[in-house]
Amino acid sequence: MEYLAYLERLRRFSPLATVHEYARVKENGREYPLLCLTTPGRRELVVTAGFHGEEPAGPLTVARHFGELAEAARAKDVALRLFPCVNPSGFEGGHRYNASGEQPNNDFLRYEVRPGVFADEVHVGEPFHAWHPRHEAPKETRALHQELARHPAPAGALDLHQDAWVKAQCFYAYHFGEPRPYRELVKRSVAHAKVAVHLSVHNQLRTDRWGLIVHHDGSNSDWFHRRGVRHVAVLETSTRTPLERCHAINLTWLLGFIDLVAAS
Ligand SMILES: [Zn+2]
Repeated sequence: MEYLAYLERLRRFSPLATVHEYARVKENGREYPLLCLTTPGRRELVVTAGFHGEEPAGPLTVARHFGELAEAARAKDVALRLFPCVNPSGFEGGHRYNASGEQPNNDFLRYEVRPGVFADEVHVGEPFHAWHPRHEAPKETRALHQELARHPAPAGALDLHQDAWVKAQCFYAYHFGEPRPYRELVKRSVAHAKVAVHLSVHNQLRTDRWGLIVHHDGSNSDWFHRRGVRHVAVLETSTRTPLERCHAINLTWLLGFIDLVAAS
């Protein structure tokens, strides 16, 4: 989809939200404005979508259902800070990384596993010496990181992705902290697609019997977790899943996160 046409769809929500340009990136010899939509409220939910260009469902769900999300958030006094399309040149071209081939995803923090020894990831429960915000990331990541760092940590953060490798129509989620609320969201989503249980998703990691997995990968979600954000998840629908079903699953989790943040 043409990014400019997509931006027009987002700008139509300006009666419901403050639509602001937090940065511009230059790719394909053009400038791509990066937009953020915010609404006021007592506690904040950050939503990110479109880190990977071949995963279009998240950006499209948000553009289609923003009115409903804004209304649900307003009714529950939840503020939204929504980044609908983090990697616009990837989105437009349908390719994973940006047009320069940079990988805007897992570059928000680095682990110092022992003093002076750094790693991009740690295992669940693995002790480490410290973590540090990372600033030498691709331009889209830096722009988002800088914008997020200007604000206090939110009460919740949901990142919408898709899995382009798994062959089935299904979904699963990464999460941090207490799994119960995410099990509930999985239950509410099974009407729309199968849960990917015991699925190998990353190196040796597998989803559990609920289709949930914990992974400290240095992503923005991991960074939120390390900053003490209570509700953090990364939802993955497979790209084989029909878009309408992806929308339904994404919407279930978005509305569920509004409820979680309202109750926190
Ligand atoms: Zn992804």
